[in-house]
Amino acid sequence: MRTTPKLVVLAIACCNVTGFVLAGDSPAPSISADDALVKLKEGNLHFATSDVSQGKPTAARRKETAQAQHPFAIIVGCADSRVAPELIFDQNLGDLFVVRTAGNLVDDHALGSIEYAVAHLGTRLIVVLGHSSCGAVKAALESDHAPGHVESLVRDIQPAVKIAKSKRGDALAAAITENARQVAAKINAEAALGDFAKEVRVISAVYDLETGKVEWTNR
Ligand SMILES: [Zn+2]
Repeated sequence: MRTTPKLVVLAIACCNVTGFVLAGDSPAPSISADDALVKLKEGNLHFATSDVSQGKPTAARRKETAQAQHPFAIIVGCADSRVAPELIFDQNLGDLFVVRTAGNLVDDHALGSIEYAVAHLGTRLIVVLGHSSCGAVKAALESDHAPGHVESLVRDIQPAVKIAKSKRGDALAAAITENARQVAAKINAEAALGDFAKEVRVISAVYDLETGKVEWTNR
C-alpha cells in the first residue's frame, strides 16, 4: 500500500518524539509561555464577562488552519461536556491543543500527545485544568474502586484525595485543586521535552462552572 506524503510527514513527526529533532522539523515557539498565559487569561475574562463569545469558527479561519496548526497552548482538561477549552478561553480553531480525559489525568498517550505538540507544533504553555464539581474526583473521594476502566481513574486520583482529606474545609474542592497540581507535576517530571523543557511552563488551574472563571492555582 502506498503511503501519502501527508502520512509520511505525520509518521516521521510521531516516531520522532523520543529522538526528537530531525533537521527542519522543529518550529520556533508559536508564542512564549508567558504570552500564551496572558492570552488565555484575557480569553477567559471575555468568556466569563460577556454574553457573546467571540471564539466561533469562521470559514476563513477554517481555511487558514487547514494548511497548518500553531496552537499557542496545550490544555489538559476534563472530558466533562461543560468545560470545553476552546469555549471557556474564547479561542478558535487551531488555537489550543487539547487533551481531555475524565479527571484531567495523563497517561502515556496523553504524555506522547503533549510531547508531540511541544516538539513539532511549537507550543510552550501547558495548562492542567480541573473544574468545580468534577464527577471523576467526586467518585474518587467516595471510593478507590469503580467498575471497569473507571477504576483506573479513581485509582489515579487517590493521591490527591489523600492530601485533600488531611486538610480542613471542602474536601472536593481541595481534591480538585490538588489533582490538577499533581498532574502538572507529573507532566513536569515525566514528559520527555528535551531541550524544549527550559522554554515550557506547566501550570494548573481550576475552572468554576458557575462563574465561568478560571482560577490559576500555581503560576
Ligand atoms: Zn471533571
